[in-house]
Amino acid sequence: MANADELIRDTVRRIVPYSPGKSSAEVMAEFGISQVTKLASNENPIGPSPQVIEAMCQAAGRAHIYPDPQCAALTGALAALLDVDPGTIVVGRGSDEVIHMLGLAFVDPSDNLVFAAPPFALYPHTARLMGAEERAIAHRDFRHDLEAMADAIDERTKLVFISNPYNPTGTIVTADEIAAFMARVPDTCIVVFDEAYVEYVEAEDFPDMLEYVRAGRRCAVLRTFSKVYALAGLRIGYGVAPADISKALKQVREPFNVSLVAEEAAVAALRDVEHMRHCVDVNRQGREFLSGQFEQMGLEFVPTQANFILVDVGMDSVECFEGLMRRGVTVRTGEIFGLPSFIRVTIGSREQNGIFITALREVLGGRSVSPDLG
Ligand code: PMP
Repeated sequence: MANADELIRDTVRRIVPYSPGKSSAEVMAEFGISQVTKLASNENPIGPSPQVIEAMCQAAGRAHIYPDPQCAALTGALAALLDVDPGTIVVGRGSDEVIHMLGLAFVDPSDNLVFAAPPFALYPHTARLMGAEERAIAHRDFRHDLEAMADAIDERTKLVFISNPYNPTGTIVTADEIAAFMARVPDTCIVVFDEAYVEYVEAEDFPDMLEYVRAGRRCAVLRTFSKVYALAGLRIGYGVAPADISKALKQVREPFNVSLVAEEAAVAALRDVEHMRHCVDVNRQGREFLSGQFEQMGLEFVPTQANFILVDVGMDSVECFEGLMRRGVTVRTGEIFGLPSFIRVTIGSREQNGIFITALREVLGGRSVSPDLG
């Protein structure tokens, strides 16, 4: 019988499956340790609010019922919170799914997608899924190079992704920079503002992208419950876009894409503003602690507006990663981002940050420094 490989679409052959790295269970088994401090996936170290857990337990008893395909309760709550029309909101299984919906609804094989390099993995994934061209524009000083991105846009550009804050560096693009960029972008493409980490931002010149949605510009704003709301395991996020764009996204959406438990948890999470603020505070303290420690250690790092920090450890990042893993700490290696001496570490709880710093000091202190061969 013919191998199924022959039946696979050409464009799908180019897709490298997402690699989440070793699970905590695998690390524990391999290194014989009883606890893993996972700082690899930008998860919230606090966990969901007790009110959200209660809402999930209540909803669990109704798990035999299909969810509301319109997600009306959540859409209504978000519309009130964000001051947008409910018709502009599309709820997805994480913002990942909304990115895929944008591809399914808008991208033809003859199109191209523009994004910064290194990209968040879902952008090239969506391009490949749709058989479209990827235009990855190198970052400049760890920030989006908006001028080069605007130069790369042509009449076949369908989607432009701006991760703001930028994963993996934590930098932002400012309101003025966006205004200048938007003035250059033709209305033949949709600019997607991926704001997965927006709640952590403290910069005063951060743009209000929902203004562009309200003004009916060709754009979409993506947000998630995975980060500050601590619901990554439930998979729920959303997009906000002018009604003509969101209508197209709803046309490609699976009818019951978001589970009943996830929707009810998200509604409860929006209500518990105090928990969200607490998570932001813990992140701010962790950001200050880690930045201070890196400075003391003489390590260069990228000042961050998000819940992770990119730091130059001055050694091979895979080697550093392995040293940390042996000590029960997992992070992301920079080599996957084309930054071989960097690691990306999620800002954890106070205790987790302490464990990480102790492990990092040991790894850096214990390594033999290789001579600089120029
Ligand atoms: N965009 C960016 C930039 C991200 O870092 C993430 C999470 N890793 C997402 C989108 C997707 O988040 P989710 O699918 O969990 O909502």
